[in-house]
Amino acid sequence: MTAASRVLVLNSGSSSVKYQLLDMSAHARLATGLVERIGEETSRLVHTPLNGGERRERGGRVADHEEALRAVAEELAADGLGLDSPELAAIGHRVVHGGLTFTEPTVIDEKVLAEIERLVPLAPLHNPANLTGIRTARSLRPDLPQVAVFDTAFHTTMPEHAARYAIDRETADAHRIRRYGFHGTSHAFVSRATAALLGKDPAETNVIVLHLGNGASASAVRGGRCVDTSMGLTPLEGLVMGTRSGDLDPAVIFHLMRVAGMDADEVDRLLNKKSGLVGLCGDNDMREIQRRIERNDEAARLAFDIYVHRLKKYIGAYCAVLGRVDAVAFTAGVGENAAPVREAALTGLDGLGLRVDAELNSVRSDRPRLISPPDSRVAVAVVPTDEELEIARQTYELVGTK
Ligand code: AMP
Repeated sequence: MTAASRVLVLNSGSSSVKYQLLDMSAHARLATGLVERIGEETSRLVHTPLNGGERRERGGRVADHEEALRAVAEELAADGLGLDSPELAAIGHRVVHGGLTFTEPTVIDEKVLAEIERLVPLAPLHNPANLTGIRTARSLRPDLPQVAVFDTAFHTTMPEHAARYAIDRETADAHRIRRYGFHGTSHAFVSRATAALLGKDPAETNVIVLHLGNGASASAVRGGRCVDTSMGLTPLEGLVMGTRSGDLDPAVIFHLMRVAGMDADEVDRLLNKKSGLVGLCGDNDMREIQRRIERNDEAARLAFDIYVHRLKKYIGAYCAVLGRVDAVAFTAGVGENAAPVREAALTGLDGLGLRVDAELNSVRSDRPRLISPPDSRVAVAVVPTDEELEIARQTYELVGTK
């Protein structure tokens, strides 16, 4: 009998479940899909087998995560990839907040579940959804190893001077207030893949990773370990994002409460959902913003400029944090696709050894590639992220050989 080498990766959100089934010894992706709008009348499951089968869609209300996972299991079974297959080695779950407890991928047991639950106040929207996904998957396959891979884990190597806010220590410690960072799976994957692209050992490579999706974060990675990242206690800090403000003077919040009469929930909504690109110009999709700029739309131009200015500040800051930089790597929806953002973010940074070759930058590809001229002191790379593969890899490393 062949050893079990498949890993199912589950990313359970509050009203959605995304999944991928990978075969780790064949280096193959077998199926991918998502269930969205769970709990609503308009739920939808889209399943794509990647072994030549047809993409399938199901409508009709999916009441909860348990029903969603049962439907996913049925779709996989229809392709001969069912959850009861002896070839399934483990399920890997994306978990958003691991606090300071979880510095590595962790096999899930009751104690681990209790600890993820204890971290709910730090990620009130995400951890409960992740827990529901884990509990449901465990009820479907109680005998199967299940592994939690945390978004925060890669950043737990940040030194105290980067992780602590300069506020009263007792208050900070009592409420676990510090910078945790997010998108860690992507920063880990991309920093390693960038070293590989340069033909260097990750342990000897310093990389600035710019994960620019709808959420966006930057990290400074020295020798494979994160030493600083732009997101903080929550994913609100740092870069300008699709709908989040990123950095601002904290006094803006008291001002909104005292002067504009907003309560905490209203300010939370304003900064997380109605700010960033959407707040500045009404669109959070960089493609649409670029189209509007071509039509000389001023609000779109200003939103783009503010986005790029913040990005530039973080690139400069992380050059200073790292001292020596081998590469700057762009990833995620905007980073991988928006050549004008990459160009604008690095324009004028020759002094830091950063240059972009216009022709290389305009090439569209889904492969890791360099966009700096060969004689650039610092390499500039575009490296497509693959969080599912990274979760599967970490899961398999932990349980696949047992
Ligand atoms: P992600 O969160 O990584 O899926 O990134 C989503 C974002 O990527 C979208 O909101 C778009 O702003 C951006 N995006 C995707 N494709 C393109 C493209 N071709 N050009 C510019 N931006 C893009």
